[in-house]
Amino acid sequence: MHRARKRFGQNFLQDNGIIYSIVALINPSADAHVIEIGPGLGALTLPLLENLDHLDLLEIDRDLVAFWNEKNLKGLTVIEGDALKFDFLAWAQNRAGKKGLCKVVGNLPYNISSPLLFHLVSAANSIDEQVFMLQAEVVERMVAKEGSSDFSRLSVMLQARYDMDLVLEVPPEAFDPQPKVNSAVVRMIPRRDFTLSDIQWSALEKVVAAAFSQRRKMLRTNLQAFADRLNLTEIELKARAQDISVDRYIEWAKVLAA
Ligand code: SAM
Repeated sequence: MHRARKRFGQNFLQDNGIIYSIVALINPSADAHVIEIGPGLGALTLPLLENLDHLDLLEIDRDLVAFWNEKNLKGLTVIEGDALKFDFLAWAQNRAGKKGLCKVVGNLPYNISSPLLFHLVSAANSIDEQVFMLQAEVVERMVAKEGSSDFSRLSVMLQARYDMDLVLEVPPEAFDPQPKVNSAVVRMIPRRDFTLSDIQWSALEKVVAAAFSQRRKMLRTNLQAFADRLNLTEIELKARAQDISVDRYIEWAKVLAA
């Protein structure tokens, strides 16, 4: 019997209704290239595998890797590794050109969700879709619109790169052990109209970090260092970071990187 390890964020899904809803949202066609981050004991893995010719698993916990290797299931490849260090771009490019969509899915360990989402951005060009279970509060920030108090650095950066929807809310009772927080499933589709170069992306990171550095302060203060290059309107100077649209941040990044 596997005992859940807190340090690996192990909360195993046990509600069959929720499990099948998530698998239906992932909607795997047999020829899709899917990698599941953190299969744990297989709540999502086994129903996914029923629909797929092939499934890759990426798991950090050595005992769980051994558990999957012993099962020796047809169509399953088990990779022992840390998702924060895994080269998702190489994985996706390896599949590119073959029929079928590239999807990254998982009920993620909540303690690493933000760094993992940013790590995945570097592979977004080659990935068709991501479906993740995360802490509900994080998903709410990811999808928040400008003007909302949840609109944050995470919202701007991820909305610049992905179209995202909160697609399912999941209560703690769906897991064993139960997490202390509510969860939600988010679907992320890389934007096809994304055109930022690496330099422009870095400029976006800088200007967004500066804008949100002191949430309550006006942009006049937070963006002082960039003021002579950005043509901020009077209204923008008095606005706060959460009032500016993602598109406007992108425009600023392009100016700063030029
Ligand atoms: N998918 C299973 C389920 O829904 O019941 C388990 C989900 S559990 C929340 C998170 C899983 O991610 C665990 O299996 C854990 O060992 C694994 N994990 C934690 N940190 C990881 C990392 N850095 N890289 C890969 N897997 C990780």
